[in-house]
Amino acid sequence: MTDGQESLFEEAPAARAEALRREIEHHSYQYYALDNPTISDAAFDSLMRELREIEAAHPELVTASSPTQRVGGYVGEQFAPVVHEQRMYSLDNAMDLDELDAWMERTAEACGGVLPPLCCELKIDGSSIALTYEDGVLVRAATRGDGTTGEDVTVNMRTVRDVPLRLRADALSAIVPGVDSLELRGEVYMPKKSFEALNAAAETEGRAPFANPRNAAAGSLRQKDPAVTKMRDLSTFMYAIADDRSLEMAGQWELLQWLREAGFHVNPDVRLCESASAVRAFCEECLERRESLPYEIDGVVVKVNEFARQRAMGFTARAPRWAIAFKFPPEEKTTLLRDITVQVGRTGALTPVAELVPVVVAGSTVARATLHNLDEVHRKDVRVGDTVIVRKAGDVIPEVLGPVLALRPETARVWEMPSVCPSCGSPVVRDEGEVAFRCISIDCPAQALERLLHWASRGALDIDGMGEEIVSRLVECGRVADVADYYSLSEDELAVLDMGRVNKDGEAIRLGHTIAAKLVAAIDASRTRTFARVLFGLGIRHVGKTTAEVIADGFPSMEALAAAGEDELAALDGVGPKIAHGVWLFFRTPDNVSVIERLRAAGVTMAAETVAPGEEVPQVLSGLTFVLTGTLAHSGMTRDEAGARLKAMGAKVSGSVSKKTSFVVAGEAAGSKYDKAASLGVPVLDEAQLLNLLETGEVPREV
Ligand code: AMP
Repeated sequence: MTDGQESLFEEAPAARAEALRREIEHHSYQYYALDNPTISDAAFDSLMRELREIEAAHPELVTASSPTQRVGGYVGEQFAPVVHEQRMYSLDNAMDLDELDAWMERTAEACGGVLPPLCCELKIDGSSIALTYEDGVLVRAATRGDGTTGEDVTVNMRTVRDVPLRLRADALSAIVPGVDSLELRGEVYMPKKSFEALNAAAETEGRAPFANPRNAAAGSLRQKDPAVTKMRDLSTFMYAIADDRSLEMAGQWELLQWLREAGFHVNPDVRLCESASAVRAFCEECLERRESLPYEIDGVVVKVNEFARQRAMGFTARAPRWAIAFKFPPEEKTTLLRDITVQVGRTGALTPVAELVPVVVAGSTVARATLHNLDEVHRKDVRVGDTVIVRKAGDVIPEVLGPVLALRPETARVWEMPSVCPSCGSPVVRDEGEVAFRCISIDCPAQALERLLHWASRGALDIDGMGEEIVSRLVECGRVADVADYYSLSEDELAVLDMGRVNKDGEAIRLGHTIAAKLVAAIDASRTRTFARVLFGLGIRHVGKTTAEVIADGFPSMEALAAAGEDELAALDGVGPKIAHGVWLFFRTPDNVSVIERLRAAGVTMAAETVAPGEEVPQVLSGLTFVLTGTLAHSGMTRDEAGARLKAMGAKVSGSVSKKTSFVVAGEAAGSKYDKAASLGVPVLDEAQLLNLLETGEVPREV
C-alpha cells in the first residue's frame, strides 16, 4: 500500500502489524470458509502488502501464524475430493512492465539467448476448472483446490452450457494413439452482466450480494443443487491441457486452435508474439480494452509457446517457469485519509474533498478524491485519520469506497461542513431539500475562478492552454473577472503577466510571448465554437452538455432563448421545470445579461449554425444514424462539430451503438463503441472516410 513510502501510520509497527493480521484473518475466513468476502481482492491484497512491508522492515515481528507465511488454497468438505493427476499450478506474477521485461530476459537466457515465440492470452478472472474426458466423453470436472486436491463439481459443470459433454469427432484424430483420457483446463467465469443481474436479484430478495464476478462464479459452482448453478449463467474459456504429450502438436498456439475444434469456448483475444515489444504492446492494448470486455480480466498470461521448451524450463514449487501473469495495476488500494477539505464550485456548491496520502491506483497516483457532499461523508462514515479503500477503474474518477473500520485509530475525527465559505468567508447556506451546501456570495473568488475555468474547458469553449495557474493569476491581478474579459486580452499584456514566482536571480517569472501568442490564438479560435457549447460554457445552473444541446436545438439564438418563458423551456424533451427555472433566472440576472452582451460584441457565437437562404444543405444523409467515438485527431474537429455537420446533412447522431446504427465513425483511441460495432457488424468509418463523406455527401459503399 505504501508504494515504497515510509510507514504512513502513527501506530507503532508491532501494533499495526497485529491489527492488520487480525483484519486479514477475518477477511480470509469470509472469503474461503463463507464464500462471502466483504472487501475486494484488491483491498485485501493492499492490506497484505502493507503487512509484508512491515514484516520485511521488522523481521522480528514475523510470527509463524502470520497470514504472510501461509501457502496454498482451500479444500472444502462439501464436495468429494479429487486428486489431480498433474498438479494444477498457480502463476508467478509480474506487477508491472519492468518485471515482465525481467521475466522475458530470463526466458531468453534459458533459451540460448534468443526470446522464443510467446503465446499471450487474457487472464480471465474466474475460477480454475479441470475437465476430464474419457474416450471423448466428459466424466469429471474438478476445481483447483490447493493445486493437488480439488473438489468434484462434475454435476454442476454439466449445467454450464458451453462445456461440451462430448468432444467433436474432427478433433479426435490429433489425440496420440493409445491415450484414452484427456484433462483439459481453463477458467469458469460469470459475465459482468449476469453478475449484475444476480446481485440485483439478491438485493430484492434480501440475500447478501457477491463481492465480485469471480466469487460469484466460485460460489455458483459450489452449489449443493445443480439447478441453482444452471440458473447462474456461467461460461468457460479453456486454455490448457494437463499433459501435452497426449496430443500431437508442438505448442500452446496450436492447442488453442485444437480446443476450439474440439468444441470448447476459447478466448479470441490471443496473440503469438515474436518480440518483447510485441508482448508489451499486447499487454497495453488489453489494459486499455479491459473495461469494454463483457467479463473481468485481471491481466495477461504470457506463455512460452513450444511444449518442448516448456518441459525444458519446468516448474518451481508453485508455478511454471515458462509462464508469467502480467497483472494489471490493482483498481483498489488502501491509504490514509489525512484530511477533508472543501472545494467551492462555480455555482457556489461546497464539495468535501478527501486529501489522501498519495497511492498509485490503476496505474495513476491518487492524492485527492471527491466525497460529493456531507451526506455522503456521513453515509460512508469516513473520518479524518481512517485507513480508507480507494478505487479507480479505467478512466473513472477516483472514489473513496469507505473506511477499514478495524483499523480506525481512536483519534479519528468525524467531519462536519464548515459554517463559512473557505474561499470568501461568507456564511454557508443549505437549500431546503437539497444535499449541497452553498456559498451564495456574488463576489466569491473561488466561484469566479471555477466559472472561468469551466468556460475554457475542453467540452465548453476549449481555450487550449488556459489552465488553472494562468487563470488564477489573471483573477488575482484583477484583469479577468468574468468570461467576457478573456476576449479583451492582448498578447502584449499576457506576455508580461506575473506568474507569482521568481527565477534563481530573484526576478519575477512572466508568461512570455510564445505562450501569450498561443493563448491569444486559442481565445480567438473559441469565438466560433457551436452555440450549444457557448450555452454549456456559461455554466447556467443544471445545464450540462446534453441539456445545452437540447436547448440549442429548440432555441437556436441567444435572443430567442433569453425571451423564452419557463413553460416554453420546460416543453423541450429532457428539460424539466428545475432546469427551465434555472435558465429563465439566468437571463433575469443583470450581470449575466451584460456578460452576454460583451461576448456578443467580442464576436462569440450567439446562434446555432444556419445556412443562408437558397443555400440549403441537401439532406443526403437523412434516415442514417451515426455514432462517433475516439478523437478526430487529423482534422482537429471535435466530435460535437463533426456531429453537427452530419446533422446538418440530415443524419441522426446517437451516443450508443445498436443494430439500428448505420455507421460508427472511429477516430483515434476509439473505445468500447468500436468493439460493439464490430460485434454487431455495424460498418466503421475512419476519419478520412468521414471527411470525404462530409465533403461529397457520398456514403461509402464498401467499408
Ligand atoms: P493466480 O490465481 O493469481 O495465481 O493466477 C493463476 C490462475 O490464473 C490460474 O490458476 C488460472 O485459473 C488463471 N488463469 C486465467 N486465465 C488464464 C490463462 N489464459 N492461462 C493460464 N491461467 C489462467
